[in-house]
Amino acid sequence: MGNGKTQLACLLLFCLLRHTAGFVFWTAMVEISYVNNQNETTDKYCECGVFGRNSAVERVQGLVTVPKGDPKGCGSNPVYNRNASSPPWIALVKRGNCTFSEKILAAKHQGAAAVVVYNYEGTFNSTTHMSHPETKGIVAIMIGNLQGMEIYKLVQNGTDVNLVIDVGSPHGPWMDAYWLYFLSIAFFIVTTASIAYFVFISANRLYNLRMHRRSERRLKSEAKKAIQRLQVRTLKRGDEETTSDTTVCAICIESYKAGEVVTVLTCDHIFHKTCIEPWLLERRTCPMCKCDILKALGVEEEDKDGIDSNSPPEVTVITVAGGDALYEVPLTDASSPQYYDNRSFEGEPARG
Ligand SMILES: [Zn+2]
Ligand SMILES: [Zn+2]
Repeated sequence: MGNGKTQLACLLLFCLLRHTAGFVFWTAMVEISYVNNQNETTDKYCECGVFGRNSAVERVQGLVTVPKGDPKGCGSNPVYNRNASSPPWIALVKRGNCTFSEKILAAKHQGAAAVVVYNYEGTFNSTTHMSHPETKGIVAIMIGNLQGMEIYKLVQNGTDVNLVIDVGSPHGPWMDAYWLYFLSIAFFIVTTASIAYFVFISANRLYNLRMHRRSERRLKSEAKKAIQRLQVRTLKRGDEETTSDTTVCAICIESYKAGEVVTVLTCDHIFHKTCIEPWLLERRTCPMCKCDILKALGVEEEDKDGIDSNSPPEVTVITVAGGDALYEVPLTDASSPQYYDNRSFEGEPARG
């Protein structure tokens, strides 16, 4: 059973990996450098970009250029004051109004070396994995809104911002914090459920065992009292039982002698008192005619605690690693002697 579960889990994981293999994405290293008001060179660096799904994944460098009018950079008219003959430049556009493909194509047509799209306002520094199927061969990355706005303002103020985009590291869904979180939660739930199930089963079994033992004890004391009510005789010399050689106590196979105490059962069969009493406590029936003596005395075997006495005993199978079950130990019938069935003898010829 445990094996089957493991196989199922492996299969699921395999399917998940196969299904999500196409969603691997690359992060981008983003480095900006510019000269600030105090004439100092500022250099900032972070692994905060994500390459678009259809982007070339390579290093690009250039001067940041923003659209002339709308920072979203949509439309087919020339949107930048640049052309291909100027030094390499990178378009910085805001997400929205038109598709990623349109923005990227508009910049590409005017000779941009790469396109950086920054996210909507209010999304802080979160990014998405852009899809832009109409553009091929140009680097396009997305960065967070706050990072994008910072660069945008610098460029608007007339600062020359030099930007370097470099390849970061690959990420798959299973490497994401989200998936790690999801998998941890799933693992936690499965583990908790298994433990809870195990505890429930164990508690239930223990409870049943205790109830069973209690009812057995009660039954035994009832049976003892009932047996006391059976007729008892002391054999005398000349009694029919002492003279006949063929009349023996069926339990000890001894013939009766004068002075011995015998018990007469409800079926009129007689046995030594010391022989029949433990027998009845153990088996209830007359050894000769199988008549249920305790039932005849009003001691019912029927269990009032809801344990089905007809059900097969619960069996614990003790196994050794990799091997077959060695012993089967009946758990519920603690009062009767336990028989150990050693299966390693199965292969041998029957003895005797
Ligand atoms: Zn006997
Ligand atoms: Zn009998």
